Amino acid sequence: MNVIYPLAVPKGRRLCCEVCEAPAERVCAACTVTYYCGVVHQKADWDSIHEKICQLLIPLRTCMPFYNSEEERQHGLQQLQQRQKYLIEFCYTVAQKYLFEGKHEDAVPAALHSLRFRVTLYGLSSVELVPAYLLLAEASLGLGRIVQAEEYLFQAQWTVLKSTDCSNATHSLLHRNLGLLYRAKKNYEEARYHLANDIYFASCAFGTEDIRTSGGYFHLANIFYDLKKLDLADTLYTKVSEIWHAYLNNHYQVLSQAHTQQMDLLGKLFENDTGLDEAQEAEAIRILTSILNIRESTSDKAPQKTIFVLKILVMLYYLMMNSSKAQEYGMRALSLAKEQQLDVHEQSTIQELLSLISTEDHPIT
Ligand SMILES: [Zn+2]
Ligand SMILES: [Zn+2]
Repeated sequence: MNVIYPLAVPKGRRLCCEVCEAPAERVCAACTVTYYCGVVHQKADWDSIHEKICQLLIPLRTCMPFYNSEEERQHGLQQLQQRQKYLIEFCYTVAQKYLFEGKHEDAVPAALHSLRFRVTLYGLSSVELVPAYLLLAEASLGLGRIVQAEEYLFQAQWTVLKSTDCSNATHSLLHRNLGLLYRAKKNYEEARYHLANDIYFASCAFGTEDIRTSGGYFHLANIFYDLKKLDLADTLYTKVSEIWHAYLNNHYQVLSQAHTQQMDLLGKLFENDTGLDEAQEAEAIRILTSILNIRESTSDKAPQKTIFVLKILVMLYYLMMNSSKAQEYGMRALSLAKEQQLDVHEQSTIQELLSLISTEDHPIT
């Protein structure tokens, strides 16, 4: 294989670092189409996203082959656009997952890639760029770089203002991030305004009881919590829990029925599924464990609320096929129910959950 080094590039074409766009000094030896200013950015990019897309970049970054006919050329172009679209979504999901896991540094290179592919495919003023700006803003906020976050949000806001075809989903995400920015700046008035807008637009796009709307309620609840308006916070945390409970319970019911049938028919285990992508699973874990922490601080007064969240986490981990985590949360729910001497029915539903999980541990073969 012919390895291309930066110096061998035709005159006039300057190669830039994938991460910071400074002049490049290194090239990825695996794909030979990706350049870096130095080993630090190469490693950062590799750990974040490059390892996952290295080989996929080759057809995007090498010259288009010579086509014999217009038909072939069109086909080639279509394929290229499909690859770009795939990478836009893939990098977006990877970055989002890092954000939900609190790994803000890792999210940056993946988010930058999603942005760059969007620029290539849609141009600089397209509203398609907004979701990537928002990821970068959120990562910057997480890293405490408030000025940089504001810049990305300004770009996003400006693009939305100029556009006539911005979806409700995008409006919702923009307001959510503005809400987070103002919360970081402790401007609670503005933060509340934007989060209320987030909920409004998300409800228009997905409905009021959708998991994609729950993020807005959750962040608004956090604001009330910060402001010590605990009743309002409590109501919203309950709403978020109920939305996730309804969603997961639905999947769980379908599954536990299919589960028994499948076992009988095939004598093997049914594959579990949350119906969520990786980023949504990470979001669910983050939201629910954070509500759990808040609930646990008042467990002595309202153990039912803590148990409710624990049961949702049991279902989530069960559906994610992490039975040891599911069991751990199940045991916690059970011991809390016994400790607080809750009624027998409550204890038996937790027992039921636990027995279903434990059959997972000893698969029938
Ligand atoms: Zn660099
Ligand atoms: Zn590579």
